[in-house]
Amino acid sequence: MKIYAVGLGPGDMDYLAPRAREVLLQCDVIVGYTGYISLIPELIKGKEVISTGMKGEVERCQAAINEAIKGKQVCVVSSGDAGIYGMASILFELLEKSSVNKQIQKGEEEVDIEVIPGITAAASAAAILGSPLTSDFAVISLSDLLTPWDVIEKRLLACSAADMVTCLYNPQSKTRNDYLEKACAIIAKHKPLDTPCGYVRNALRGTDTDYRVCTLADLPTAKVDMFTTVIIGNSCTKVIGGKLITSRGYMI
Ligand code: SAH
Repeated sequence: MKIYAVGLGPGDMDYLAPRAREVLLQCDVIVGYTGYISLIPELIKGKEVISTGMKGEVERCQAAINEAIKGKQVCVVSSGDAGIYGMASILFELLEKSSVNKQIQKGEEEVDIEVIPGITAAASAAAILGSPLTSDFAVISLSDLLTPWDVIEKRLLACSAADMVTCLYNPQSKTRNDYLEKACAIIAKHKPLDTPCGYVRNALRGTDTDYRVCTLADLPTAKVDMFTTVIIGNSCTKVIGGKLITSRGYMI
């Protein structure tokens, strides 16, 4: 019995991996956040769909395990990559906790998880902005729902001190409307305010893609939300023809 943790990529079906499409077409049940299920209307036809709102992650994964135990092939979908702030790890942890596989009788099949990777938001946003991730980079989520804010602050400061290009996921929400500003203040402790930056909303997701190249000084007032990825350059990042490019150091 198989549960597939499927990364859907940024949203446009042209960027869905062929293996992801294959397992989505062949499975019996598709489980996911309502917003992600709505990205794949053609692939859910005739399927049993279990969708819940935000913050229903554990409940969704438990539902997926319950369906797999019944003998169904189940896909649990995440946007971008399934293992990057996605559902894959929760599935492994819940399956281990439920000890389903330890209670297997002779001749019965174990529940197995296969992770199908997808294009993560950092890669999609980088492609829209130019090529800002050419060198070492880090990804930090500004959501403090599961990670305490003081840990996020430490990571931001370390990335800034280490001159890492830094991608910010979950940069701001309605209830966390000053988080990007706070993050920029920390990053500015080690990076100059004229550091080139950029942000992309709805990267490779329909026709609503919107992006801007700016500086670290401009970033705190940028209009960002939960559909936006922010990229802060390093000392080798420059703007070429309006695009954000991190030089890798080739002699040219
Ligand atoms: N598993 C996802 C990340 C989920 S966290 C992945 O690998 O991409 C959710 C955050 O990802 C959002 O708040 C936003 O910062 C970013 N994101 C997801 N899809 C995006 C898109 N199409 N364009 C820009 N940012 C996106």
